[in-house]
Amino acid sequence: MDCVEFDKKIDSFLHDELNDEELNAFLLHLNSCSNCREELEINYIVKEGVLRLDHDRMDYNLSAAYSGTIDENRRSLRERKIMIRLSYIIGTFAFWAVLMVIFVFFRILIMGS
Ligand SMILES: [Zn+2]
Repeated sequence: MDCVEFDKKIDSFLHDELNDEELNAFLLHLNSCSNCREELEINYIVKEGVLRLDHDRMDYNLSAAYSGTIDENRRSLRERKIMIRLSYIIGTFAFWAVLMVIFVFFRILIMGS
């Protein structure tokens, strides 16, 4: 992902609308590009600031909230990746288990006749 693409995705990120693949690319670019980091933080603070203003909660620490949001996204993406890997392993295991059952079934069938 480049800076132009990143910029286009900021709004979707702030609204939790990126899929895992997009979020992964987004966070990777965020790690490597200080300009985009700054850009995202500003966008976040403006968006949250307006929200808090509506609710009269200006005591809120927006920078900390921003860091929390990024950490939360990283964590949930990591968890989803683990779940995908796990379901792949379970799927592979189930596939071989079914194959074994079929194999044993036919052996019994052949031996029985
Ligand atoms: Zn960038």
